[in-house]
Parts: sequence; structure tokens; C-alpha cells
Amino acid sequence: MKILIASPEIVPFAKTGGLADVTGALPKALQRLGEDVTVIMPKYQIVEDKKNNLEYAGKKIHVPISNRIEEAKIYKGYINSHQSPVTSHQSVANKKIPVYFIDKKEYYDREYLYGTPQGDYPDNAERFIYFARAIIETCKTIELRPDVIHCNDWQTGMVPVYLKTLYKNDPFFKDTATVFTVHNLGYQGLFWHLDMHLANLGWDIFTPEGIEFYGKINILKGGLVFSDIVTTVSKTYSLEIQTEEYGHGLEGVLRKRKDDLYGVINGIDYDDWNPLTDGYIKAKYSKENLSGKWECKKELLKIYGLTPSKEIPVIAVISRLADQKGFDLIADIIDDLMKFDVQFVLLGTGEEKYNTLFEDIGKRYPAKTVIKIGFDNTLAHKIEAGADMFLMPSRYEPCGLNQLYSFKYGTIPIVRATGGLNDTVENYNPVKRTGNGFKFSEYSSNALFSTIKKAIEIYRDFSLWNRLMINAMSEDFSWDRSAKEYVELYKKARAKRVNGE
Ligand code: ADP
Repeated sequence: MKILIASPEIVPFAKTGGLADVTGALPKALQRLGEDVTVIMPKYQIVEDKKNNLEYAGKKIHVPISNRIEEAKIYKGYINSHQSPVTSHQSVANKKIPVYFIDKKEYYDREYLYGTPQGDYPDNAERFIYFARAIIETCKTIELRPDVIHCNDWQTGMVPVYLKTLYKNDPFFKDTATVFTVHNLGYQGLFWHLDMHLANLGWDIFTPEGIEFYGKINILKGGLVFSDIVTTVSKTYSLEIQTEEYGHGLEGVLRKRKDDLYGVINGIDYDDWNPLTDGYIKAKYSKENLSGKWECKKELLKIYGLTPSKEIPVIAVISRLADQKGFDLIADIIDDLMKFDVQFVLLGTGEEKYNTLFEDIGKRYPAKTVIKIGFDNTLAHKIEAGADMFLMPSRYEPCGLNQLYSFKYGTIPIVRATGGLNDTVENYNPVKRTGNGFKFSEYSSNALFSTIKKAIEIYRDFSLWNRLMINAMSEDFSWDRSAKEYVELYKKARAKRVNGE
């Protein structure tokens, strides 16, 4: 099958969150299954030609936006799949995956992807309506006739809308189906109605059955309504988002599409996240020989002037600092937690109020905490390897990747049982010695605190904790299984498209 994956961010080119990890790794897994995959994204400032071996593809596109036609250049690079494990599809696995970049400087040549720490860019409607139509025009220009366009998050939501409206009778896309994946329903691409002129669509699309949402344009809703298949990134989240509590106002739309709505758990890329091969960490280790983990812990703490001890657990957080992630609960308990013999390491950036909150915690407990406000992939690896526990008390979490990385590094996740966290973390039972972490259900600081206390207690028993680490490190969340599920869904979407369902 010819699959085009469209995403606003893709590892290794540009990343703000888990979406980029997913759209960087899924193409490789699909290729290992023998599929023909191409990828497309905007060319932001951070996507440097030289570093990424990008070249001008010699093609330009002319994309209508409002009453103008705006030209963009197409660049080409590759996702390298050479590190992937050798399989029976070895010759396929060694092929590079083409990535096309929409080079439109006025829109994408900026310091940030979507906005500054002060807020979103004011022209995001224009930037991503343009991106969607540019994806379609690029297909025609490079003569790529995909069987499926797999769209990811609101920034690509207009692709299914266009294919079912302006391009409905275009023979080029006669058999092209769309799969739309929601990585986070909290980000919808909401814009005022007067931006409708940008899309060159009639007002008949701007209805509650179409892309209108309480008087505004909702681009994510466009993706949900017009795509052939909708997916999200865990089974639990696919059910949660059909309820008022988690639906962000779109629960009705999702319930309407429940027969076409699937939850596929994300995999992780063990080429990048594996303590046995990780180039960022001090010492390599595996579940067969854990001694390197202690070396990693010592290095992590020493860099920041803290004293490492096997008796003192390091509790870590690596995250976007956003309301979704449950930081109000951490703020509530931090003073009580600091009374215990623990060390706390946080790496994150995001909303100003949380940046300030954690900087303040760092100042109040300099001997027990390391607080790093910023985005730092190298440090993220060092923390995964050097910490003992990993906190994710999320209000909601579509899938979550860090708990999966944490398993592999023997860093035990303590999570709220929501979305993908619920699907992947199983409570440790010290009697049966089963389970891979700790989870709690109620969104409350009490529930979080008592779960951390339980973890600290078990940590004190070396043999119990050791078994827990081995359980976690034995988990396998590689992409192959989930990629197979996507292939089945691509086939379903194609069948719907071709049979005109
Ligand atoms: P989300 O997509 O909601 O941000 P995920 O858990 O799905 O959450 O994915 C987050 C990804 O971003 C992980 O790969 C995580 O390591 C990475 N990440 C988040 N914040 C930072 C940071 N400050 N520095 C480095 N990596 C980060």
C-alpha cells in the first residue's frame, strides 16, 4: 500500500511532544512490514538543510489561500531506517523513507512551531489551512497517488475536509482514503468564523455537522467528521473521549463516529530509547546486568551537585508543563514529599505559571531537587537512565510515551490511571511480584501522595524493587504490533473509500 503520513512535527526534524516521536517511528515500522511510506511536514526554521541533508526537490506548488495563490518550494529529505533490526524484510528495512517539506518562509520560518511561550501565533489558521492544501497539491506535483493519507492532529485536519469537498471529483484522489489520528483532543485548532475565507470553502461546511463549533471554526472537528477512519492513541482514551469529562466538547461528534473510531496504542522506538545502546548515557545496562544504572544515577546527580545514594530514590518528571499533566497535584504535595528522604528531578518547559512554580521549588529545596526549565533531549535520556521513579499524575493522557521509555530504563512509573497510562501500567503486587509500576485513579493529591509513599516503601526492599525493575524492563512496546493494527485500519479506510461507504 502507498501510505502518506502527514504531520506537523516529526522526529528527527522538529519536535515539541510525543506526536513527533510517533510520526518519526511509525513510518519505519510500516516499512519493515513491507509498506511503501512517504512522509510530509512543514519546513520550520529548526529544520536545517545541512544537518538533515535536505535538498530542494526541484518542484514548486501553487496553493490557493483566500483569494490568492501562494507559491511554496518542496524540499526532500529522508528518515533513515538503517538502524532498525534486521528482519525478513531486510532489503526493505534498509531503504530510506522519503520526507517532503513544505518550504513557505512566511509561514514556517519562525523560531517556534506553533507559537511563543506567550501564546499561539495569530495566523495559525492560515499556516495550517495552507499546510493541508499544500499536502494535497504536493501529491499532484510529485505524482504521489496515496492509497491512504494518514493525518495527525488538528494541523492536518483540513486534508480530509478538502478530499471530501473541493477535491471530491478529482480523479487523482479517486481512491485515496484518509485516516485521522487524534494525539490530543485538547488541541483543536479553534479560530473565529471570519477565517473561513482562507479555506476557499462554502459556508455550507460551516455548520454543526461540518466544521463549526459554537460559532467558531474547529479544524480538528473537520478531521473527525470528514475522514474515513478516526483513531486515537490508546483504547482507554478512545472510550474516554466519548464522555463529557474527557471530550472537550467533541464527545457528541466522537460518539456519532464510534463505529469508525479505534484506539491504537503507540509504540516506542527502541533504536532511540534503549539503555543497552543509548549514546547519551554514562554506562550501558540491561535487565541482565543492572550495574550501569547506578553509574547513570551517580552521574545525573553529581552534575547538579546532589549526593547520590542507593538508599534515596530519585523521582523524576520530564514533560511539557501544561495543565493536562497534573502539576497542580505535585505542587500540593511537594512540601510533604520533601520531608521524605527522596530527590526530585524535573525537566520541562511550557506555561509560565508552571515554569515559575518549579523554579521556586528548586530554590526552596536546593539540596534535594534539580529543576531544569527547558527542552533538552540529551538530559531527558540521562534522567530516564539515572532516576528510580517517574511521575505522571496526568489529568488526561492520550497515550503517554515517557512511561514506556521508563519501563525500558527500569525507572518505575507512578501514574494516574487514565488513557494510555491506564492501558500500559499494571499495579505492582509485591506478594505475587507481578506488575510494572504504580497507578491511582482519583485525581487528587491524597491519591498521588499515598501512591508515592507506597512506591518509596517498596523501594526500601531491594529484592522487591529489583523484581519490579525487571518486570518493567521486560515489557515490549515496540512498534511492530501497533504498525500492524494501523495497516489493518488503512485497509478498512480504503475499502470504505472505494466502496463509497
Ligand atoms: P506529550 O506528547 O503530551 O507532550 P508524551 O509523553 O506523549 O507527551 O511525549 C512527550 C515526549 O516529549 C517524550 O519523548 C518526552 O521525553 C519529550 N519531552 C517532553 N518535554 C521534554 C523536555 N523538556 N526536554 C526533552 N524532552 C521532552
